Amino acid sequence: PDTLTAELTVDTAPDVEDATAITNAEAVDLDRSNVFHSWSAQKSLNPLAIAGGSGSTVWDHDGNTYLDFSSQLVNTNIGHQHPKLIAAIAQQATTLATLAPSHASHVRGQAAAKILSHAPANMEKVFFTNGGADANENAIRMARLHTGRDKVISRYRSYHGNTGAAIVATGDWRRIPNEYSRGHVHVFGPYLYRSEFWAETPEQETERALQHLRRTIQCEGPQSIAAILLETVPGTAGILVPTAEYLQGVRALCDDYGIVMILDEVMAGFGRTGDWFALDAFDVTPDLITFAKGVNSGYVPVGGVIISGEIAATFDERVFPGGLTYSGHPLAAASVVASIEAFEEEDIIGNAARIGRDHLEPGLRALADKHDVIGEVRGRGVFWALELVQDRQSRTPVTAEYMGRVKAELLRLGLLPFIADNRIHVVPPAVVTPEEVVTALAIYDQALTAVER
Ligand code: PLP
Repeated sequence: PDTLTAELTVDTAPDVEDATAITNAEAVDLDRSNVFHSWSAQKSLNPLAIAGGSGSTVWDHDGNTYLDFSSQLVNTNIGHQHPKLIAAIAQQATTLATLAPSHASHVRGQAAAKILSHAPANMEKVFFTNGGADANENAIRMARLHTGRDKVISRYRSYHGNTGAAIVATGDWRRIPNEYSRGHVHVFGPYLYRSEFWAETPEQETERALQHLRRTIQCEGPQSIAAILLETVPGTAGILVPTAEYLQGVRALCDDYGIVMILDEVMAGFGRTGDWFALDAFDVTPDLITFAKGVNSGYVPVGGVIISGEIAATFDERVFPGGLTYSGHPLAAASVVASIEAFEEEDIIGNAARIGRDHLEPGLRALADKHDVIGEVRGRGVFWALELVQDRQSRTPVTAEYMGRVKAELLRLGLLPFIADNRIHVVPPAVVTPEEVVTALAIYDQALTAVER
């Protein structure tokens, strides 16, 4: 049929004018009356309407534009509406828009091969999921089947997703009632600024966090522990960059006790830290890596588990009981291939690293010199946190009300922020330009000044 060979004429040029056919109020009303939202009581909902985007910018229906320094839950690493991804998705849609995971699919094979080409050398297979939570869900199941053990150790300060085992592994939302909590154990990881270990140096913090983990393993019984699941760099919990020695120490403990090491790179992977994978900076090799978000910037929902040869071999003669109807969906696969190609062609990883080193780090440190409310600046690449405190001595977090005013000021000045507890997470797309960073830094400065007054 003609559609298979027809030239696609996809208009990928963003159009701010088109967005104004309806108003923000109309979009918000329709949404509020029909859509059930998470993380907010339905009656107090007041979502910001977003109509379109391009690169690091989004706009609403009333003609306001915002610099998107949230990257939509730290997801759009390639920025909004990258033409190569849009064209690849459209092209795939005209060929085959859906396919069950049990079939062989060329585009799915290409997507897995592309992901593996940037993963550590021991990685051999990719299992596709619909997002990050179910990636962790399946990684945990693989570790349990591989070891024949049950328990999973993860950190209190962590976010691993919002399904059965993933939310129980998550440390940040322990208050959610969950029937699957059996077999999950939590530990404190390194966080020098608020050390649980009375540590004063990164070396002390690392050593004591590892001691605490070793003692926990011993007390729980090593032969009962299937996996240690860690975000390489905990994201939502505060962008807590560990030392290489910590992650290498966890690897050594896993080796000593036959435990599977799972690194969750759902937020930190695919350029966020200025590397293909955040783990690249720490010289550490896990057994399983989970990913989602940045792999295709969420243009089509996708996630997955990257599996070492050793763990994949467990299932050579044995069935892995799992699978999702949309696993390796063709539109997702096409967008993954296009995204990784664009990263390679446009040196997007290099851009994220340079922006972090030459623009964000010095700019944010200068901001902290000016504003006493900034207690700590930490991060790398396009993955930074400003921790706001009432005073630098006590390190008491600023109030939720204070953060609410900071958020309102940032929005008023045209920046879409990512706010978590008492922190501003500075997380623009990996394609952000130095000029956009200059504008954003001026907005953070003005907003903090306005709130301080
Ligand atoms: N893991 C990490 C580190 C995350 O940051 C997230 C989401 O923010 C998830 C897992 C869950 O991913 P998803 O929301 O796609 O299920």
